[in-house]
Amino acid sequence: MEILDSREGLKSLLRDWRHHDEHIAFVPTMGNLHKGHLELVRRAREHAERVVVSVYVNPTQFGPGEDYETYPRTLERDTRLLRTAGADALFVPTDETMYPMGLALATVVSVPGLTENFCGASRPGHFDGVTSVVARLFSLVAPDVAVFGQKDYQQQLVIRHMVRDLSLPLRIVTVPTVREKDGLALSSRNSYLDEAERNIAPGLHRTLAATGRHLQDGKRDYQALERIGLEGLEAAGFVPEYFAIRRAENLEMPDRDCDELVVLAAARLGKARLIDNVVVTV
Ligand code: AMP
Repeated sequence: MEILDSREGLKSLLRDWRHHDEHIAFVPTMGNLHKGHLELVRRAREHAERVVVSVYVNPTQFGPGEDYETYPRTLERDTRLLRTAGADALFVPTDETMYPMGLALATVVSVPGLTENFCGASRPGHFDGVTSVVARLFSLVAPDVAVFGQKDYQQQLVIRHMVRDLSLPLRIVTVPTVREKDGLALSSRNSYLDEAERNIAPGLHRTLAATGRHLQDGKRDYQALERIGLEGLEAAGFVPEYFAIRRAENLEMPDRDCDELVVLAAARLGKARLIDNVVVTV
């Protein structure tokens, strides 16, 4: 596995692969890798001869007071895991590589609409940071396919919107959420949970799944189901940010006939902010 931190190094490797007509699948991450990330790598392999993974803790997607400084940076372990998973290249850009003109002069890519609610409302500016860095990474790696996790449901919709709207020449693949046995979605931020919080944490997925079952049973009073979900999270010890039932394709309000729904939630548990979702076909 090649490890690169510069544009030049990456460029010459990509040129070589392209010369041999090899396709490239790309998995952007912030590191502190877990089995969810490795599943993205495995799926990436199904779509291309070459797999590039990036590890970059992007400062522009963290708000003031968020965990940018303390975000777990575990590059040695990540490198080992990616070697074993069979990635072909690990791109670990410096801030200068990612933002050569400096943050103050950096071009911002911003998707309106979809980014205004949910995680966008709780974390102002977060999605602008995500789309801006992902657009930069797409431009550097020029992949044929990029792979994202369903865990960050709103994020993958925002990226799909950006790719469509800018006619970027790549395909987005979304991979189902990888979970612990008790249902908790794997996340780099789960390490913030203490033992008591870790026992409460699977309640987020349990509550989402229960709502999904109600929908499948034919219940259509979305507001009442959202209220029950929020109350359930509170009763379990979470501080919920949102719990919502929306159209899976665009997060708009569903009418009663909508048959592809997503139930999505964010909730705080001690120092951790957990997000999760379930997609329901009714
Ligand atoms: P992150 O490093 O947390 O920014 O995540 C990098 C990529 O991994 C994103 O596309 C996430 O949606 C995806 N991801 C994170 N956790 C999981 C999980 N438990 N299952 C599947 N994909 C995940």
